[in-house]
Amino acid sequence: MRFDIITVVPGLLDGPFAHSILQRAQKKGIAEIHVHNLRDYSVNKQKSVDDYPYGGGSGMVMGIDAIARCIEALKSERGYDEIIFMSPDGETLDQSIANQMSSQQNIMLLCGHYKGIDQRIRDIYITREISIGDYVLSGGELPAAVLVDAVVRLIPGVLNDETSALSDSFQGELLDAPVYTRPADWNGYKVPEILLSGHEAKIAEWRHEQALLRTQKRRPDLLED
Ligand code: SAH
Repeated sequence: MRFDIITVVPGLLDGPFAHSILQRAQKKGIAEIHVHNLRDYSVNKQKSVDDYPYGGGSGMVMGIDAIARCIEALKSERGYDEIIFMSPDGETLDQSIANQMSSQQNIMLLCGHYKGIDQRIRDIYITREISIGDYVLSGGELPAAVLVDAVVRLIPGVLNDETSALSDSFQGELLDAPVYTRPADWNGYKVPEILLSGHEAKIAEWRHEQALLRTQKRRPDLLED
């Protein structure tokens, strides 16, 4: 699976893909993540990509030119399943969107900055708009990293058995059960006895029960669905 991320602040994406599971997915050749600096596609002297908004008001707006040139250049090299604009007014990212996207091949992600991007880019090129929640961030870079992480960890071969995504919260209708590791007794705080029993069926039953209790308490809305 290949991601092409378009941004005016590529440095913001230096960290998230260089470690842990996302790094391993790239090393294994399961995922490719390419970050494109929008300024490289600007043809004016200052390499600027934003301008004052028509009609006045505060904040700068990212213009059409450089974005269109970058999108066209990428599209001329391969087909894209989606060209996604990260935007607080988009559909809210959830596990089912991540699941669905994990079977796609080429995804382009456009990160806004400042006040946002010229609406015409959204009208002409964008096939999907995704928000990571009802709050406003300074740019689409962190949201893009969140989306890539949520999707890549679902691609077969990325996680090993110990970290299998299948029992994670939101994969089914239940939140995940509590987890414990050694020591079995820490200053009198004990691990539930059943987990030390070695009885697989009973442990599975206990985990299911705990997941159910936790879901009823914290997210009863998931059970109603
Ligand atoms: N004026 C815009 C917000 C601009 S914030 C509005 O009120 O809708 C600048 C950029 O950050 C956005 O263009 C978007 O790309 C990104 N962004 C901010 N919050 C986001 C969120 N919750 N989810 C996804 N992208 C977000």
